[in-house]
Amino acid sequence: MRFGRRNSVAHRPWRLSAKLLIASSVATVIGFSAICASVMLDMRRGEEELARQTLENLASTIDAEIGRNIELFDLSLRAVASNMVAPGIKDVSKPIRHLILFDHAATAKHFGAIQVFDADGQLTIDASTLDPAAENRADEEYFRFHRDRPDAGLFISRPMLHRGAYAIVLSRRITGNDGRFLGVVAGSIRFSYFHDLFGRLQLGPDDTISVLRQDGTLIMRTPFDLDLIGKNLGNLPAVRNAMSVPSGWYTGLGAVDQEPRLFIWRDSTRPLVVLVGKTWSSILSLWRTEAARIGAIMLALIAFVLAVTLFLAREISRRASAEDKLEELATTDALTGLRNRRKFDTEMDSEWRRATRHKVPVSLLMIDADHFKSYNDTFGHQAGDEMLVGIAICISDSVRRAGDCAARYGGEEFAVLLPGLAAPEAVGVAETIRAKVQQWSEGPTVATVSIGIASLTPVPNLDWSILVKAADTALYAAKAGGRNQSVLASIPQFLLAA
Ligand code: GH3
Ligand code: MG
Ligand code: MG
Repeated sequence: MRFGRRNSVAHRPWRLSAKLLIASSVATVIGFSAICASVMLDMRRGEEELARQTLENLASTIDAEIGRNIELFDLSLRAVASNMVAPGIKDVSKPIRHLILFDHAATAKHFGAIQVFDADGQLTIDASTLDPAAENRADEEYFRFHRDRPDAGLFISRPMLHRGAYAIVLSRRITGNDGRFLGVVAGSIRFSYFHDLFGRLQLGPDDTISVLRQDGTLIMRTPFDLDLIGKNLGNLPAVRNAMSVPSGWYTGLGAVDQEPRLFIWRDSTRPLVVLVGKTWSSILSLWRTEAARIGAIMLALIAFVLAVTLFLAREISRRASAEDKLEELATTDALTGLRNRRKFDTEMDSEWRRATRHKVPVSLLMIDADHFKSYNDTFGHQAGDEMLVGIAICISDSVRRAGDCAARYGGEEFAVLLPGLAAPEAVGVAETIRAKVQQWSEGPTVATVSIGIASLTPVPNLDWSILVKAADTALYAAKAGGRNQSVLASIPQFLLAA
């Protein structure tokens, strides 16, 4: 029995729908999560950058320190190598020769005494004593290296046991003025030097420092691991790459614990390259704690916002359906279930304006029960009410288009608004209703209705009351004509022109 719902939705004032609320909450949550994620990624980049800078500074400091000491030691070796071929050096006494050959740089802590070997590898001069014991180093790698290569510069040996302590041996060739190989001058830097140097640094428990020779041989490392010292790491692609570029960084696995680390190396142009590493887990540990904390807070907030949103959305839906019900009650006639007079008036108003805009006809039926007073008097008010419900059912059964509006106009009078319908079709609908009422009430309680029909295409500035009046007039004509009939109003043209 419900018709003409088309306009009820369009005319309802705007209200917050549950879907809109959920959509905006989800959008807000996504937006905040994106901002949060981007801030956390920025923080992570910041931590990475800080770690890189710290490691670069550490590598630079160690590299400069080792480089300077090796340079100083090399200067001493160079001085010995050149003075050994100076004219007259053989003629001076041993103490004077010592004074000429050795400065005090090479007697520093951690440095082994400088020794001179002749072309056969026989120890001839030792900075620590005037009368060295017989010693032959002809088989040592550094000796053979200088013997076979006239153009060799400073040679740094692999780590080795040298005079009872682990050390690296630095050596230079002694070349005669005629280019002849005259021997080798060598000295050592003990591991204690590196232990001392690394011990002075503030290192994390997982930090590593490696000192490598140009060919990738591991000279020294902290944490100290004798198994690794002396190994050639040059076959590792990352290390090989590090040796070919002066400085840089890469991410790789630790040699011992296989932990992912950030490695930074400094100055591969010097004889020894410094490679420092820090585990990513320690670089990012602060960030991880912070990210977990912020993430947990965000998750809790998101859960809270979503829960509140769902709660509000349910409340809004409940209110919306309650409002719908109220609106329906407010626009429905309680007895017949048709629209009430108030609703009819608003529908009429909007359909009238729509028809004016689109220049389409509007038809109106005014339906009145015949001799209803005597029906009431004969069968009682209750039966009269039932009769009104029956007539309402007959009307709504005959009026089925979406825009149509059937209403109880008052008492035993009904109105049917038929937008877009011209007079002939409206007459058809009226006749259907009339026949239906008559057919339905056949028997001793036969009831009939009279119907006034008015139809016109509204023009601007014309009030819809003219249509109601015309239909009313037609209804009176139907009553006057003997009732149980439909009469089409004739609307004077001068009225339409008004
Ligand atoms: P006519 O054919 O000229 O229309 O005669 P009528 O008796 O129907 O006309 P009238 O307007 O004189 O009587 C209308 C009656 O309808 C009066 C009233 O008792 C009755 N009526 C109006 N509203 C209701 C209602 O809600 N329920 C019932 N049972 N009767 C109603
Ligand atoms: Mg009446
Ligand atoms: Mg009547």
